[in-house]
Amino acid sequence: MHNYTKPHFNIRRLLALTILMTVFVMALPAIAARAQTPTLPEYIVVSGDTLYGIADRFKTTVEEIQAVNNMDGDTSLQPGDHLKIPGLEGLSGIMVSDFVPLGASLTVLARRGQSTVEGLIKLNKLTSPSELFVGREITITQNPETQTVASIPPLLPGESMLEAAVQNQTNYYRLARINTLATPNLALPMDTYYAPSATQTTNSLAIPGLEEISLGNMPFMQGQTYTIRVKTSQPLKVSSELRNLKPGFYPLSENEQVAYGGINALAEPGIYPLTMEFTTASDLTYRIIQYVFVNDGNYAVDTNINVDPKTLEEEANVDEDKVFNDLVTNPTPTQQWSGLWLSPTNEPVCVTDKFGNRRTYNNDDSKLYYHTGLDLGYCMGIDVYAPAAGTVVAVKPEQVIRGNAIVIDHGMGIFTTYMHLAKILVSEGEAVVPGQKIGEIGNTGRSAGPHLHFQVDANGVHVNPETWLLKVFP
Ligand SMILES: [Zn+2]
Repeated sequence: MHNYTKPHFNIRRLLALTILMTVFVMALPAIAARAQTPTLPEYIVVSGDTLYGIADRFKTTVEEIQAVNNMDGDTSLQPGDHLKIPGLEGLSGIMVSDFVPLGASLTVLARRGQSTVEGLIKLNKLTSPSELFVGREITITQNPETQTVASIPPLLPGESMLEAAVQNQTNYYRLARINTLATPNLALPMDTYYAPSATQTTNSLAIPGLEEISLGNMPFMQGQTYTIRVKTSQPLKVSSELRNLKPGFYPLSENEQVAYGGINALAEPGIYPLTMEFTTASDLTYRIIQYVFVNDGNYAVDTNINVDPKTLEEEANVDEDKVFNDLVTNPTPTQQWSGLWLSPTNEPVCVTDKFGNRRTYNNDDSKLYYHTGLDLGYCMGIDVYAPAAGTVVAVKPEQVIRGNAIVIDHGMGIFTTYMHLAKILVSEGEAVVPGQKIGEIGNTGRSAGPHLHFQVDANGVHVNPETWLLKVFP
């Protein structure tokens, strides 16, 4: 069973990027404020650095670095050396690496680092706000001798910086200066502001009741499941949106909720906005937009597959797809599985086709399909098992494409589908336990030989089932 699209995409290999696995809202170190006089910022050499590497990183040349540091052609470096970096005139302080936290805009990053938006743009050679995707490494400057800052509760609608100054026991104009506002009147409600702090920790998002957001199964990748976990200290209604999909948040415990999302296997790799909204018990909504990078899944291209032409007819596909799509987009809130899933067939399994592979049928390359599940061949017996606890929500015999098929709901928007079966041994409404025999491998529907097509859907998106057999969620 396969979805198709017009062959409009280019498989681009983009630079692999390290995405910060967990974005802690709390415990970000407070960043010191800027120095006044030096004309160039300095970089502190670490073990393994070379002049060529540093020149490449800061988009300058070895010769220019040697010139501004009076090195006379010397290329040796010692960890701890301070190097002035050319091309960044007007910036000052020590250049350090940081990661873009969830919810950060250039303005917020500048306030947090007590630098300017223009300085950050120059330092990081930024051309667009979308370059600030979450987890991206950025360079900031800091000066160890000055004031540390911590974020303060946001101004509520109708409040001014005067209230914030009183609450934080600081001067109205000083607060405006720390927050790079020309006058205190320019402060906006619900924005993130900082006040002087003696402590070394700060909350970067300043949303009341929000303790921590963590992204799981990173990096974001074509065909992969991602999770967003949110810890709270008071009731918060949370929603998120990525690529026009809004996977629901469900409670894991009193203070924690989780959403399972999926990235379409044909999604164009690149940068997308992830929007999150947090609504408090008093009905105030805070919204953050953060750019995330969706990586290429590097899926293979299968050789042409010959099948019965009637299984490729548009009408049969549209009607049957609608029935199954409706089934897997009707989530129930309770997580029924626990721990690692079992294999749905006897082990060792033989994988005859992987998820995500690009395919054509009957030598017709006008329609590009991708493989929406994992094919497990007829190798160690014919039994098919439930990999995890769930409820059978559909038993569908004799489907044109899927053959004899079963759909199981595992809760929180996670569904599994079993296709091309010879026999179905469960009924609708039945609760299944891990390892329970639910059917037998067959060759029914659009199938070119006996095998099980095992599919996992995460809130309406087909995702790589192998991940679910290898990793414990959430
Ligand atoms: Zn398949």
